[in-house]
Amino acid sequence: MSIFNESTEVEIRERRLHSTLSYHGDANDLNEKSKQRALSCKGRYYGQCSDCAEGCAETITYHVIDAAVVSHAPVGCSVNVSNHHILGRAVSNARGLETHKVHMISSNIQEKDTVYGAAEKLRSAIYEADKRFKPKTIFIQASCASGIIGEDLESVANETEDELGYPIIPVYCEGFKSRIWSTGFDAAFHGILRRLIKKPKRKQEDLVNIFNFEGSDLFIPFLKKLNLRVNYLIPLASVEQLETITEAACTAHICETLATYIAAVLEEKYGVPEVKVPAPFGIDWTDEWLREIARFTNRESLAEKVIQEEHAKVLPELDDLRKKLKGKKVYVLSGDSFAHNIANIVKDLGLELAGMNTLHHDLHSDSPLQANTLEALIKSSGNIKNVTVCNKQPYQVLKILQKIKPDLLIVRHMNLTSLGTKLGIPTLFEGDANYSIGYDGVVKMGRRFDEALRTKKLVENIAAHTKLPYSDWWLKQEDPFYFEGGIQK
Ligand code: SF4
Repeated sequence: MSIFNESTEVEIRERRLHSTLSYHGDANDLNEKSKQRALSCKGRYYGQCSDCAEGCAETITYHVIDAAVVSHAPVGCSVNVSNHHILGRAVSNARGLETHKVHMISSNIQEKDTVYGAAEKLRSAIYEADKRFKPKTIFIQASCASGIIGEDLESVANETEDELGYPIIPVYCEGFKSRIWSTGFDAAFHGILRRLIKKPKRKQEDLVNIFNFEGSDLFIPFLKKLNLRVNYLIPLASVEQLETITEAACTAHICETLATYIAAVLEEKYGVPEVKVPAPFGIDWTDEWLREIARFTNRESLAEKVIQEEHAKVLPELDDLRKKLKGKKVYVLSGDSFAHNIANIVKDLGLELAGMNTLHHDLHSDSPLQANTLEALIKSSGNIKNVTVCNKQPYQVLKILQKIKPDLLIVRHMNLTSLGTKLGIPTLFEGDANYSIGYDGVVKMGRRFDEALRTKKLVENIAAHTKLPYSDWWLKQEDPFYFEGGIQK
């Protein structure tokens, strides 16, 4: 069956990838149960916090250069826009690009609009966005409110597209539709695939598509060693860049959770091969990744030379770091595949992987040959105990950390950093998802672990003066998974 179809919406992850939101056990068991699809998407019957697919869609749509976004939603759904604005400016400046400003308007759906419809508000928001920002494309983001009243986004998009003469792209990322927030990435990519991407006019044999989050420009110097050019997608890509991603030699992504859907469709529909090995985190995965890219671009012998040189460059410092870090236990808390990426660096530094929590877990992938990063991690690091799947929920992660007592915690999401500090655990924030790629990335993470361990006394002091915001009943509870419903053991 074809991965891409012309329907307006992409299938949600619960149905497409059989994703799960709750699990506790070990890595082998999770991998085997995933292959047998023996886990369902039961969550927990108490949730301390949540997120929304619209939020994941925004991380893509807000950062397309020359685009505007109309959020067809109550104004509160756009609460994150200022964060994106700050991030977009910072990263575009760091990458030496023109300062990126998020161009967004909320249609401000209100109560009476849910009775009489809000199509007029949407139309006028689109024209206002056109007047204010002069964009080359406009994304319309759906919301719970627009979904519940059944707003006809396609008709409004078609009408306004005819009048304005550029693509108007509905993105069906209603928060209620999927409990797996990453469905929002797929929704944004599906809109782009349907209405923006064009057939290749020519092939660019030295161009590599890299799907990433907003992060440092580390791929350009890295792939320059193979005389390759990088097409950074999608944050901070222009509309022209997006139109021609079908011309690249291959597609890689730094996190399977982010971009396997669009990568699989680019291969299926336009013959752009997807790099089907894990992202370049850790020495062994970086070797494999470079070899795979070299295979698609006919640079195999150059890749072997680069691999040899890079190993020789980093090994002396790695040896020193291993001696310093030996015996320390690390716990990783991140999104699904990105947690596996970070975890794969741990063994290179001689550390023990004490456990890992991912925010969800996709039981399988969009195309059968895509990388299974959990299986690859088991192959490189052995079985891992204390593996859980939990969509943030600090009250639960707190109990897990209190049980495992790691020496170090590494988190991908800023709002979870304080959790480790409050428990007296030195904590690293991996906010820049590109920072730890490649051979240098392993060394840099080792240095950061070494520095973080030196904060031990400080964070223990903070923990001693911290009052956790939970009842005595919960703090004395033995079972961190008390609120999980119907979990398979
Ligand atoms: S789309 Fe729904 S879940 Fe998302 S922020 Fe708006 S109301 Fe909340």
